[in-house]
Amino acid sequence: MHLLSSEESGAAEARRLDETDPLPTLRAEFRVPAGPDGGEAAYFAGNSLGLQPRAAAELVGEELADWARLAVEGHHRARRPWIAYHELLREPAARLVGALPHEVVAMNSLTVNLHLMMATFYRPAGDRTRILIEDSAFPSDSYAVASQAAHHGLDPAEAVVRLRPRPGEEHLRTEDVVGLLEREGDRVALVLLGGVNYLTGQLMDIPAITKAGRAAGAVVGWDLAHAAGNVPLRLHDWDVDFAAWCSYKYLNGGPGAVAGCFVHERHARNAALPRLSGWWGNDPATRFAMRPDFVPVASADAWQLSNPPILAMAPVLASLRIFDRVGMDALRAKSRRLTGYLAGRLAGIGGLEVITPSDPALRGCQLSVRVADAAGLVRRLADEAGVVADAREPDVVRLAPAPLYNTFADCHRAAEALAALLR
Ligand SMILES: *Cc1c(COP(=O)(O)O)cnc(C)c1O
Repeated sequence: MHLLSSEESGAAEARRLDETDPLPTLRAEFRVPAGPDGGEAAYFAGNSLGLQPRAAAELVGEELADWARLAVEGHHRARRPWIAYHELLREPAARLVGALPHEVVAMNSLTVNLHLMMATFYRPAGDRTRILIEDSAFPSDSYAVASQAAHHGLDPAEAVVRLRPRPGEEHLRTEDVVGLLEREGDRVALVLLGGVNYLTGQLMDIPAITKAGRAAGAVVGWDLAHAAGNVPLRLHDWDVDFAAWCSYKYLNGGPGAVAGCFVHERHARNAALPRLSGWWGNDPATRFAMRPDFVPVASADAWQLSNPPILAMAPVLASLRIFDRVGMDALRAKSRRLTGYLAGRLAGIGGLEVITPSDPALRGCQLSVRVADAAGLVRRLADEAGVVADAREPDVVRLAPAPLYNTFADCHRAAEALAALLR
């Protein structure tokens, strides 16, 4: 006998979890879009575009005001002088990815940074020409590596090796990637994998694969689009050669936000490396001497090309301040609680299959579910229940409870809506 319906008791349980969680939600610091009933949506698409931090408008407004007030003088006299603006992002971004400050730079967008990194670090020679990526890589990454191979006069069909899970399995096994590198690593020039796979949500064993790739003599880079701001990273200690990530997903930096890039210090200080250069990569001490000879600054900044887009960086600064305040370890702990709760709720629903690893150590916050009509389901979730998720062709719905602003109540609402729509 039950005094409460299961929906009521589920809602009460979710409310209790929200009220007692060691890290209370920071939802009030974000602009949450409205659902169909006018109340706040349950927003699970932060893995695609994170919500706007309330502080972003103020920081952008200050730059607009300084531009109006000071024009060119703002380079030196703005309240945050533009000439050194990117340096404001350096230390918080370094803390976010576990890097030394001079190993990190905020610049460009993700795919651009992957190309800049490959211009330096993909140096096919002799038999060592292959680029390893995962078969389920994000399309932009596939295009980037194929075009790099072609740029070197190689046949991408041969140079790009796509790693597939074992037949019947959804995820790559670390032992298979490491085994391949041990057996055939002498042909591999570059390993470039996603830290968290955009489709399945699998978190790769970044340290183990980096170690195996480097032991095989390859360069190891990581695309951290779905890992930065989602899982704790220790890029310096893991000896990663380079990494790049975007700032508009978990980092809430705004549409097309300025991206991030990591270059390990053993390379960052190497002036002899080949690279595509621009004036902002020159040592600031001689940048304005306007000489034709390039003197790279001894840090990841050496890969900068242009003077930075201040208006696009201000929201990233607003967002990184929040991550700095909370810290990735506390955020990850909350993320495990939220995603674990949602996974438990999804397990009881017929008509869907969770394809994200069930082991919390092998995933970030995203849960991917396989359903019959993913696009239709996502539309009805939004229109009928105010639950914002996204669909990926052909049959995957992705739900990412972002620990900064999603609540257990959101997860309860998503589970109830999914159960009702799939019934
Ligand atoms: C989101 C994402 C991109 C997007 O690239 P942009 O250059 O930022 O447009 C690329 N790769 C991966 C793995 C992504 O998840």
